[in-house]
Amino acid sequence: MGRIVIDRERCNGCELCIITCPYKLIYLSREINTKGYHVACFNGEEERCVGDAMCAEMCPQVAIKVYR
Ligand code: SF4
Repeated sequence: MGRIVIDRERCNGCELCIITCPYKLIYLSREINTKGYHVACFNGEEERCVGDAMCAEMCPQVAIKVYR
């Protein structure tokens, strides 16, 4: 069981984390940050997140923290 926290102000909506997560736990929100980007969001399914940090490793903005 894991959990991720995405810094919405660092996110530029590149979707690399969305593509990378093997369990499809991240989605692109309709919300827009102050830079004008749609932000990636964790869907809240902590019981399915394995905490492998693949999403965080792929993030070019270093916007994702993983807790497990
Ligand atoms: S830590 Fe792994 S399982 Fe959890 S959201 Fe990131 S890529 Fe998906």
